[in-house]
Amino acid sequence: MVGGGQLARMTHEAGIPLGIRFKLLSDTPQDSAAQVVSDVVVGDFRDLDTLRAFAQGCDVITFDHEHVPIEHLRALEADGIPVRPGPDALVHAQDKGVMRARLSAIGAPCPRHRVVADPADVERFATTEGDGFPVVLKTVRGGYDGKGVWVVHSAAEAAEPFRAGVPVLAEEKVDFVRELAANVVRSPHGQAVAYPVVESIQVDGVCDTVIAPAPDLPDDLSVRAQRLALTIAKELGVVGHLAVELFEVRDAAGNPQILVNELAMRPHNSGHWTQDGAITSQFANHVRAVLDLPLGDPRPRERWTVMTNVLGGDYPDMYAAYLHCMARDPGLKIHMYGKDVKPGRKVGHVTTYGEVLDEVRERARHAADYLRGTITE
Ligand code: ADP
Repeated sequence: MVGGGQLARMTHEAGIPLGIRFKLLSDTPQDSAAQVVSDVVVGDFRDLDTLRAFAQGCDVITFDHEHVPIEHLRALEADGIPVRPGPDALVHAQDKGVMRARLSAIGAPCPRHRVVADPADVERFATTEGDGFPVVLKTVRGGYDGKGVWVVHSAAEAAEPFRAGVPVLAEEKVDFVRELAANVVRSPHGQAVAYPVVESIQVDGVCDTVIAPAPDLPDDLSVRAQRLALTIAKELGVVGHLAVELFEVRDAAGNPQILVNELAMRPHNSGHWTQDGAITSQFANHVRAVLDLPLGDPRPRERWTVMTNVLGGDYPDMYAAYLHCMARDPGLKIHMYGKDVKPGRKVGHVTTYGEVLDEVRERARHAADYLRGTITE
């Protein structure tokens, strides 16, 4: 697996019961996954020679992020190494301009959008193609957790996104009711499974809480979202886990509709709830798909599952925090990533499940806040 973050750590964990030998290409020996994987190569995934040397002896390559240059992936494929998801699919998760063009071509509902050249072009987009300002600007590559996304209210405010020298995508600012995610897994021979559609609650551009299934989501919209994600996976030739981030909106008649925000082709934060809350987790199904094994049952185990991220903050003594959280809530599941604590950085998550949503949410909220150190009882 390329990339040593928490997604690789949890994918490795899911492969252990299957006895899968797992080799990791990690930026540093301290990365989250490098701390727990025995076969680690430390090196730069942007360097083709490093990738080639790493790939020696691997049956298949997969990823914990989407940043490996596409031409390097093509070179690995030319060397005879299966790359899953392959470069033709992965480019859509790497470049938001390519993603929007392809999704529009297959009829997937998207916000109005166009790649823009400069602030004057943003103004043209706002006045002739959108609903005026504000407009959302995104660098087509390199963004994550809201970095690389700007909401601008005038052409004068639009200079910043162009400074990175990366193409910029303009989108109408969607007046969404909430954010959803439709997660599916597809294998090379075309088997696919769909997880229940979830609600994803963001705070300051970072995912805070995921509720599975999304409360009060009409059945027909849920099925439409799952079908859309399965269609995207098939049309783009995705292998492994695909997260389709969605906006739930209301049309002019007040009926609920969905628009695609973006795609991730790897295990995704909106699927972490599946570790404790589904019969087969996103990580286990990603491993199965990448190895072209039959996929596991994606159905939930409980009525409600809530996942809340633990962000970097003022950490209390972790042992004392565990003592309190575990004693207070024996049903709580804690997943910490072994990462250095930086303010706002995702350093772990907690999962709770049960029959009464408000209680399940409160338990996850409490544990995440207590572990972060923002509450003391
Ligand atoms: P990232 O790649 O950093 O996750 P996203 O494209 O998912 O970036 O955008 C981050 C957040 O910004 C989204 O979760 C959403 O809250 C908001 N956002 C993105 N695009 C739009 C849009 N067109 N209209 C309104 N809000 C948006």
